[in-house]
Amino acid sequence: MIEIRAVTKTYDGGGPALAGLTLDVREGEALAVLGPSGSGKSTLLNLVAGLDRPTEGTVTVAGTRVDELSETALARYRRERVGMVFQFFNLLDDLTVLDNVLLPAQLSRVPRRAARDRAEELLGKLGVLGHARAFPGRLSGGERQRVAVARALMNRPPLLLADEPTGALDSASAAGVRDLLAELNAEGQTMLLVTHDTVLAEACASRTIELADGRVTRMVTR
Ligand code: ADP
Ligand code: ADP
Repeated sequence: MIEIRAVTKTYDGGGPALAGLTLDVREGEALAVLGPSGSGKSTLLNLVAGLDRPTEGTVTVAGTRVDELSETALARYRRERVGMVFQFFNLLDDLTVLDNVLLPAQLSRVPRRAARDRAEELLGKLGVLGHARAFPGRLSGGERQRVAVARALMNRPPLLLADEPTGALDSASAAGVRDLLAELNAEGQTMLLVTHDTVLAEACASRTIELADGRVTRMVTR
């Protein structure tokens, strides 16, 4: 699903954020990426998400050379091929929960009726359908992250990317989100998780890598 080959990323005026990284994630696999601050985790996620391009090397996701896509093709790739979940949810506070979840489908011009059915099905599955008409500000952190996961999955992306998905949650909500991600992976969802939460890594990921200075320093397969 993800093939990263000899990827180096250098930002202006700095050493390499990623230094010759080669990494594969198989379809259906959940890979957790751990490592201290500054080790290159966000850089890796951004390259796979098509938010940035490598300085050298190639990034292939579900058969698409992401590093070679035009800006227009990248926008479409981000909308339809990857779902993203963030530490602070990134929901739009002036849209209802339902409208937040519908947004990716609207941008991709999915017919309204089909999109609505899909959104309600996802909200139900993730246990937040009762909040469909509420605004995100009324929900707990754990509930907001469930909504964010529903939005990320709206367009059935082959790949789910998560950046510290439990980082802003109390322990009970974090446990709920961990269970949810583990369940999605058990159903076959391929995932790349960047996290400091070793419990999340153990609960969800079949493989964990540790980065330091843009290199893999440890890989644990379970
Ligand atoms: P992590 O997510 O593990 O904290 P990052 O990928 O954010 O690590 O950062 C890796 C290295 O790249 C760090 O040295 C960081 O300072 C640098 N870096 C990240 N983003 C930028 C940027 N936009 N401009 C310059 N340097 C950056
Ligand atoms: P979490 O630890 O998951 O963030 P909270 O302690 O914030 O949970 O919220 C617990 C419950 O209170 C949730 O069911 C949530 O819907 C409700 N709640 C939280 N904030 C508000 C609010 N501003 N208005 C109404 N209900 C709220």
